[in-house]
Amino acid sequence: VTDSARYDREVKSVCPYCGVGCQLSLKVKDDKVVWVDGADGPANENRLCVKGRFGFDYIAHPHRLTRPLIRREGAAKGLNVDPANPLATFREATWEEAMDAAAYGLKTLGGQRVAGFGSAKCSNEEAYLFQKLIRQGFGHNNVDHCTRLCHASSVAALMENVGSGAVTATFNEIENADVAIVIGANPVENHPVAATYFKQFAKRGGTLIVMDPRGQALKRHATHMLQFKPGADVAMLNAIMHVIVEEELYDRQYVAGMTENFEAMKAHLAGFPPEEMAAHCGIEAETLRAVARDFATARAGMIFWGMGVSQHVHGTDNSRCLISLALMCGHVGRPGTGLHPLRGQNNVQGASDAGLIPMFLPDYQSVTDDGVRSAFSEIWGSGGFSDQKGLTVTEILDAVHSGNINGMYILGENPAMSDPDVEHARAALAKLDHLVVQDIFLTETANYADVILPAAAWAEKSGTVTNTNRQVQMGRPAVPPPGEAREDWWITVELAKRLGLGWDYAGPYEVFAEMKKGMKSLDNITWERLEAEDAVTYPVKGPDVPGEAVVFGDGFPRDGGRARFTPAEIVPPDEVPDAEYPMVLTTGRQLEHWHTGAMTRRASVLDAVEPEANCSLHPATLRRLGVEAGGTVRLVTRRGAVEVMARADRAVSPDMVFLPFAFVEAAANVLTNPALDPYGKIPEFKFAACRVEAVPLA
Ligand code: SF4
Repeated sequence: VTDSARYDREVKSVCPYCGVGCQLSLKVKDDKVVWVDGADGPANENRLCVKGRFGFDYIAHPHRLTRPLIRREGAAKGLNVDPANPLATFREATWEEAMDAAAYGLKTLGGQRVAGFGSAKCSNEEAYLFQKLIRQGFGHNNVDHCTRLCHASSVAALMENVGSGAVTATFNEIENADVAIVIGANPVENHPVAATYFKQFAKRGGTLIVMDPRGQALKRHATHMLQFKPGADVAMLNAIMHVIVEEELYDRQYVAGMTENFEAMKAHLAGFPPEEMAAHCGIEAETLRAVARDFATARAGMIFWGMGVSQHVHGTDNSRCLISLALMCGHVGRPGTGLHPLRGQNNVQGASDAGLIPMFLPDYQSVTDDGVRSAFSEIWGSGGFSDQKGLTVTEILDAVHSGNINGMYILGENPAMSDPDVEHARAALAKLDHLVVQDIFLTETANYADVILPAAAWAEKSGTVTNTNRQVQMGRPAVPPPGEAREDWWITVELAKRLGLGWDYAGPYEVFAEMKKGMKSLDNITWERLEAEDAVTYPVKGPDVPGEAVVFGDGFPRDGGRARFTPAEIVPPDEVPDAEYPMVLTTGRQLEHWHTGAMTRRASVLDAVEPEANCSLHPATLRRLGVEAGGTVRLVTRRGAVEVMARADRAVSPDMVFLPFAFVEAAANVLTNPALDPYGKIPEFKFAACRVEAVPLA
């Protein structure tokens, strides 16, 4: 069979799953995507993982929302109201009727009583429009998205110490490195194509240092594997830096010329000798010393981190340590050096850049800066808005409970699955007087909606997205949306019109043109250039030159141009194990499933490979419980309990349990602790005191 018989056309776009941002080619026949190949994007060079290659048929799933829906008068809200027919509590409506109802409810409440969650799965243009709608339409900054649940603490530390929230080097720069640390990340499962570059790096002789409380596949390629005690990151990293200072391995010239506050850092580190920290972090002093020497004496080193670093009450402190470690070794601003928080969602970088966060307007310009606010009011041709930082994701739901917020507009987020202590989040959603949800499926969150607006999936729309590498990439529509589903930008514009905002955009390209007026990061990037080149890395110095893979070689975007050392003290987890809850629960993703599972559990190949909710326990723990691998256990924390199938897994220590958060039938966030990092306001998803009980066979 020739290719031309197998498909009618191919469309180049970007993978909708993770922040690696692989470019792909969608093969389309009869307006259906029939298969997917990798394309030659800057981040993936034709490679794809299982999600990008096989996780596409959710687009055509019969559960897709195809008509606007309005809740039936008096119908109960929530999950499992009518499990056999979850749509029964809604009636179909015309777009006109649904948009009028959505806008009327929000407008009637108005001002501070309305808040919004946007989406890191939508385009840059859609994120920009969403934050503009909340700020212009309601006059405040109570708008946020899932960055609050992933790398908010990393961004807080990066903004504080290097003056920019994005990566200083692309992950592909590992090709030019001699040493690389991967900490609190499991890239083989969560950033699989990036992991292929990490493995190649090790294969050509690079020193790979993996640090994680959980074992992982990258361990096989590592020179050092530090399986440290959960929550002991600061103790371990300070001990490593102690050695670098004590043995005078730091880069004196770099420290003197490019940084500030090193003397205070030096004094602080004196209190963290590896011999004292070894018991604290569970890593022998000699290993800590060896790692310090390998990292500090290398010609070029990089640090990659994930949510194992960020999702703690001390997440910002963890990132401060990593930044300090790179700075003292001079491992920033040159080829093969850099700081790289591996971003989770496909467009969490872009949505954050576009201002979908409560404390920053686009390009991380503070909402408290009068000049910045008036510049955006001028671009928008509207009056002013609040100079107060807005509430974050979890704070907004707390404000619903306290009665201060009564209406929400939620686009493509699923807080009824993704928020910590999720029963608290679900109760908040149920309490809202008016909830508008815009999504592609009847998500758990949509079960609480008053109005549901059916959206186009990523393969059905145009727009740009920005990956973990700062590469702005062009997404193109391959197939039409089902039924009456519409692109998110169009829906948000229609809502804005009904709120009286007078918006008028002919398409995402006009939104992008407006974004450029307030975002210097987009200088020399145009819609036409993206159409022609598919991807451009920012910052970029000219219309005809490539963007910069490595930044800050000539100074940092801070007053004085210097990066800063910020010392970090040891802060214990919010909830330490005790007699009643003796184990540590940690949560995360699996290779086959994406976040709350809305897409991947409806992707036939991925669901077939990993169909059942599961947790990982050490074989010794299973033996102690008297449970066979494949049997059922009950996980209990102070928030609730779930029953789930147990796998035997030596990657977790005997006092730990790992639970993926994609499965509604054993929702991990029923268990998680909502305690927040004070700077990034990120919840402690990676550490909760837990009890594991055997569930007898029925
Ligand atoms: Fe998609 Fe990420 Fe896999 Fe690439 S690595 S194919 S972006 S899920």
